Amino acid sequence: MTGLEVVFLGTSSATPTKGRNLPAVAIRREGEVVLMDCGEGTQRSFVEYGLGINREMAILITHLHGDHVNGLLGLLQTMNMSQRGRKLTLVGPKGLFEWIKVSMKMLHIGLSFDLEFVATKPGLVLRRGAYRVRCARANHSIEAWSFVFEETPRPGPFDSKKAAELGVPEGKKWSALQHGRSVVVGGRKIRPTEVLGAKRSGRSIGYSGDTRPSASLARFFSGVDLLIFDSTFAARDADKAVDRKHSTSVEAAVLAKKARAKRLALTHFSARYRNVSSLVKEAKEIFPETFAASDGMSVEVPAKVR
Ligand SMILES: [Zn+2]
Ligand SMILES: [Zn+2]
Repeated sequence: MTGLEVVFLGTSSATPTKGRNLPAVAIRREGEVVLMDCGEGTQRSFVEYGLGINREMAILITHLHGDHVNGLLGLLQTMNMSQRGRKLTLVGPKGLFEWIKVSMKMLHIGLSFDLEFVATKPGLVLRRGAYRVRCARANHSIEAWSFVFEETPRPGPFDSKKAAELGVPEGKKWSALQHGRSVVVGGRKIRPTEVLGAKRSGRSIGYSGDTRPSASLARFFSGVDLLIFDSTFAARDADKAVDRKHSTSVEAAVLAKKARAKRLALTHFSARYRNVSSLVKEAKEIFPETFAASDGMSVEVPAKVR
C-alpha cells in the first residue's frame, strides 16, 4: 500500500515560539507533496525534513493572514534558485495571486517554472490521478477556506473466477474490466460491475485552517481519517476564541466527534500556552483519538482495514 504521511512543519499561531514555527502542513504521497499553508520559514523546514523542492507539488493557502502565507515568496524564490522545472499549482483566495504577482515584480523575482493559479471555491479545486482536493468555506475574521485531501476511490477487487466463468480470456480484456471498461465476449457485453467488487474509498485528510467550528464544516470533514483542526485556545479562553474567530481544543474535539473523524490533530496553538497538554486532555475527554501536533512530527495515515 502506498504510504500517506503528514509532516507538521509549523504548529504555532500568529507568532512563532521557541519550539513552534508558523503554520504549514505537508502531505507526502509517493514522492508528491501537497503543502497546506506556508508560514514564514517553511522553506527551511523543507530542507530540515527532506521534503524536496523540485517534486510534483501543489500549495494550498487557507487565507491571507500573514502567519499563513509569509513563507511563500521565499519558498518560490528558493525553488527558482534551485532551477525547479516542474509546474507548481497554487490554490488560494484570489488576492493571493495579486500579492504574489506584485511582489515578484517589485522584488525582481523570475521563476524557472510555470505557476498555475487556482482560485478557492466550494467543491473540487484540484484533481490529480491518485488524489483530489475539495474546498469549503471556513468561518474566520476574513475570507478563509478549509480543505479535504482524498485519494481517488479505487475499483473493487477483481473476481478472476467470475471472469473465467463468463468466458473472458485473460490478458487485455481482463485489464480493460479492471480499469472499469466494458468488453464484448462472444457477442455479449460484459460490464465491469459483473466482475468487480464494491469501490474502495481512499484515505482522506481534513485541514481546517483558522476557523470557528460549524455544522457545515462537521459535514465537510465527514469520515476523514485524520482531521487537523484549529486549536488556538484552551476551554478557559473560549471567549477569546469567539472574539478572534478561532476554536478551542474542546470545540475541535466536539467537531471531530460529530464528523466521525478517525483521529484529531490539534494545531495552531496560541503562544500563550507554554505547555499544551491541558488542551489535549480537555479534548481527549470528548474525542479520545486526539493528539497535539508538534513541529517535525510525522504521522502516517494507515491503509484502510477492510
Ligand atoms: Zn492563523
Ligand atoms: Zn487567520
